[in-house]
Amino acid sequence: MVYESTRGSESGLTFSQVIKKGIAEDGGLFVPSTDVQITEEQLKQMVSMSYQDRAVMVLKQFAEDFSEEDFRDCVEKAYSQERFDTEEIAPVKVLSDSLSVLELWHGPTCAFKDMALQILPHFMTKSMKKTGETENIMILVATSGDTGKAALEGFRDVEGTKVAVYFPLEGVSEVQKRQMITQEGKNVDVVAIKGNFDDAQSGVKNIFADPEMAKALADKGYKFSSANSINWGRLLPQIIYYFSAYADLVKKEQIAFGEKINFVVPTGNFGDILAGYYAKKMGLPVNKLICASNTNNVLFDFLCTGTYNKNREFVKTISPAMDILISSNVERLLYDVTGRNAAKVKAWMEDLKNSGVYTVDKQTFRALQEIFWTAWTNEEEIMETISDTYKGFDYLIDTHTAVAVDVYDKYMISTGDLTKTVIVSTASPFKFNNSVAAAVFGEEKVAGKSEFALLEDLSEGTGWQIPKGLKGLDQKPVLHNTVAEKDEMKSALLGLLVK
Ligand SMILES: *Cc1c(COP(=O)(O)O)cnc(C)c1O
Repeated sequence: MVYESTRGSESGLTFSQVIKKGIAEDGGLFVPSTDVQITEEQLKQMVSMSYQDRAVMVLKQFAEDFSEEDFRDCVEKAYSQERFDTEEIAPVKVLSDSLSVLELWHGPTCAFKDMALQILPHFMTKSMKKTGETENIMILVATSGDTGKAALEGFRDVEGTKVAVYFPLEGVSEVQKRQMITQEGKNVDVVAIKGNFDDAQSGVKNIFADPEMAKALADKGYKFSSANSINWGRLLPQIIYYFSAYADLVKKEQIAFGEKINFVVPTGNFGDILAGYYAKKMGLPVNKLICASNTNNVLFDFLCTGTYNKNREFVKTISPAMDILISSNVERLLYDVTGRNAAKVKAWMEDLKNSGVYTVDKQTFRALQEIFWTAWTNEEEIMETISDTYKGFDYLIDTHTAVAVDVYDKYMISTGDLTKTVIVSTASPFKFNNSVAAAVFGEEKVAGKSEFALLEDLSEGTGWQIPKGLKGLDQKPVLHNTVAEKDEMKSALLGLLVK
């Protein structure tokens, strides 16, 4: 398997090379150059396999420079009992005859980013060895909450790497902030920025582009890389759980082998649902992929009209991980749906950059409509859905998962489709406990309470256990208290280099 850029000017790269590079030099994203298939026989074998074995089965199709043993080593380190609070890693909970939930939040940070960020560091260190890399890797992350903590947990104490995370001081929840500033590990640094997420992100981009910083890093034997979802190493591990969910449903006798199912995915940067698209292309029996948006419904509009328009107000919602107007991974989708037409993709991405808008051709639009169904959910509907799901199924969901559940209701009303469906659940309800507790107990019961008090309340009131990663968070010692002005990000990073 070799990889190429969606904008056409790089090809023939190995898996190791694309993991290390993260993004192509022409600004495109790396994708496999040929289609990958999982045979019916392989899918059948997966039914009786562990998550780890299913993972190896999928991963080994995507690299020639990684042996099966290499992948097994990565998988065993990443998806271990120490890191995940269930042996199943990504369990499927059956709610009714037709509806199940794929829980992707049993990792150390209680959100689905762990599924990829637990294994990416192991891909990275092996890729460095295989390419004869003599320098260490410095991972820079600007985060609005979930990615930062997942990257810190994933890369902590990973040989040959350091990780620096920048978060907006006022822009993350109390739980998310605590998760980051109490982070342990010899190679990690966390800096709060006096500014918003955009300030943190522009600061990181400036550091990446600064020749002086590159030199300072090189002098210490480091080079930059990225851990966000433009890296193929973030996307590939997500394909596994679509296969795993299918295999589990067969195993639980919820579906017959070969029967098609739907997935509903709460979507932001289009990384999660794109992995579902790849799984379908690889031969997984999928009927519809249902793209669930929140109030920032740029993807809903795109899939309904064929026009992507980011020129709109950015709304802060109670499902903040989906508050995004530029969904980077749509580029990979368009490349594939157009039959790898780099010229088209490049032109659309240039339109997006220059005017904030692009419109795909009719054929591409029709292909998208064939694959996806879409709807969006407002704030009140999210709260109602959390409450209804708890009452109806005795099952707690977070605000992001609620978007998916509500969109599924809309899908059922609109289509009457009885195909068995899996809701992709992206965060533990305890991670966004403020909204969840308000939805379940009523606003008046949460007013004035801290998120840490609400963790306890939610657990006592529902009988659900607080996940290990969030327990006692307010008692943990603060290890990172650097607060930097926007223009102090560089000096903060230089400080980390000599640490
Ligand atoms: C990141 C995230 C999402 C969105 O995932 P994408 O891959 O960006 O579409 C949804 N829910 C939660 C909880 C997340 O952390």
